[in-house]
Amino acid sequence: VPLKEKLLIQRIRRTADRRGARSGQGIGDDCAVLRVPRDHEVLITTDFSLEDVHFRREWHPPDSVGHRCLARGLSDIAAMGGVPHEAFLSLALPADLPQSWVDGFVRGLLKLANRYAVRLAGGDTAQSPDGVLADIVVLGSLPKGEAILRSGARPGDSVYVTGTLGSSAAALHQLRDGKKLRPGSHLKHFYPEPRIAVGEFLRKKKLASAMIDISDGLSTDLAHICEESKTGAMVYAPALPACPGKDGLTLALHGGEEYELLFAARSGCRIPKQIAGVSVTRVGEIVRGRQMTLATADGNMEALRPAGWEHFS
Ligand SMILES: [Mg+2]
Repeated sequence: VPLKEKLLIQRIRRTADRRGARSGQGIGDDCAVLRVPRDHEVLITTDFSLEDVHFRREWHPPDSVGHRCLARGLSDIAAMGGVPHEAFLSLALPADLPQSWVDGFVRGLLKLANRYAVRLAGGDTAQSPDGVLADIVVLGSLPKGEAILRSGARPGDSVYVTGTLGSSAAALHQLRDGKKLRPGSHLKHFYPEPRIAVGEFLRKKKLASAMIDISDGLSTDLAHICEESKTGAMVYAPALPACPGKDGLTLALHGGEEYELLFAARSGCRIPKQIAGVSVTRVGEIVRGRQMTLATADGNMEALRPAGWEHFS
């Protein structure tokens, strides 16, 4: 039996305190009062996690759902080069949801929050008529004028991605095929790590001209950079850090929920092969025009269309 709202908030608050989140005013007043570092701008991002759209209770353990819920917001902050500070969580829960599920969800979310010194500073709860609904708001900041936007890419820039691509979607395919997966063996899907340190490094060193996180798939997210920058792009298929397997290339191009960073950098910029322990791979270039093209291993050119992940539909 789920706890009443008051009890749930108390529980989250206690857990947040116990886990050593940055103390400060927050849960318990009508509004959170926040302080922003001097000469910083505020970043705000909001993301829904809906049962049967973004997760399934029979596939994802509750702490994974909590982790993924916050990871989406943190990844958006990373994509701007920002530092996350606070999170706000609004939860709508079905009346028959076991309390152990809620506890697991909160545990997974707070574990990730504490890793990045993010404070859970408020939220709301309600009863849901159907399924779990979690809405996360993450606040971050960075020095004025330093946000890395999607619109800064220019023809001639190189295109890079962090980490590897495709394993989150590959795990989802297996779940859909009815396979039971051990979350510990598929961390990229169940416990994705937002690339906060990489984003910060790129921003501080002024290396990236445009950036986005890969939440919907490289093809779709690269199209967003092209659209905002009014450019095209060429992707070299053999260069993609794809996971092995027969669908490796397709998953690398279109698989969603990777939470890697995709960025452009001026051709003269030297980009380290590894940043904060994460590999960085040059996978293409920004070109004139508005087309996206895929250069295949056998030297052919194909149109690359945004065909990113559509969740579980
Ligand atoms: Mg994003």
